[in-house]
Amino acid sequence: MKKITVAIDGFSSCGKSTMAKELAREAGYIYVDSGAMYRAVSLFCIQNGWLTDTDINIEELERNIETIHISFKTNNEGKSETYLNGKNVENEIRTLEVANGASRVSTLGFVRRELVRQQQLMGDDKGIVMDGRDIGTVVFPTAELKIFLTASPEIRAKRRLDEMAEKGETPDYEAVLANVIERDDRDQNRAESPLRKANDAIVIDNSNLTRNEQREILRTLFNEKTLE
Ligand code: C5P
Repeated sequence: MKKITVAIDGFSSCGKSTMAKELAREAGYIYVDSGAMYRAVSLFCIQNGWLTDTDINIEELERNIETIHISFKTNNEGKSETYLNGKNVENEIRTLEVANGASRVSTLGFVRRELVRQQQLMGDDKGIVMDGRDIGTVVFPTAELKIFLTASPEIRAKRRLDEMAEKGETPDYEAVLANVIERDDRDQNRAESPLRKANDAIVIDNSNLTRNEQREILRTLFNEKTLE
C-alpha cells in the first residue's frame, strides 16, 4: 500500500482534528494539528505580555520567533499533546482567548513561514495527516489526498459549546458563535495564505453527516488513493 500525505483544511470547529486523528490512528500515520502550533505561538505571546486585546508586539515576536519550539507527544491514553519549549500546554491552548490570539498571530507572514517550515519537516517521509487552513494549498501542495471540510457556523458553534461544556466550562452560545464567525472572516480575508479550498481538494460538508458517515467517506477516499 502506498504511503501518502493527507491534508485536511477547513473552517474552525468543523471537526477537522477528530477526522484527522481517527484516520491517522487507523492508518498508523503521524497526526499533526497545525492549529495547535498557532495556538502555542499565541500562548507564548500572552505569557510574555506581547498580545493584548488591541495590540501585538510584532517586533518582540519576530526577534524571538526562532526560540519558539513546538512539538507533539502522545500521552498514556494515546492522545497527541502539544508542547511549547518542552512544557505541556495542551489544556492552556484550548481557551477562547488563546484561539483568538492564534487567529491574529497567524496573519503575520514571519510566523507562518516559520511554522510552515516546521510542518514541512514533519511531513518529509509522508505517512502524515495534518489539519489546518493552508495545508493543501501551502504546506503540502502535492498531497495525494486533500479534504476541505465545512459546516454551517451555527452547527460549528453548537459543537464547540458542547465540547467546552464537557470540560465543565459554561460558555455563552452567542459569544462562541461570534468567535466562530470572526475567526472565519479573519482566516478567509488575511493577505498571507488565506483559507481557501485547493483546486484538487474534495469538499465534505458535514452539517448533516453522522460521525460514522463521515468516517466511511474518508476511509473510501483514503483507500482509493493508497491503492492507486
Ligand atoms: O484549528 P484551530 O482552531 O486550532 O486554529 C487556531 C487558529 O490558527 C485558526 O483560527 C487560524 O487562524 C490559525 N491557523 C492557521 N493556519 C493553520 C492552522 C490554524 O492560520 N494551518
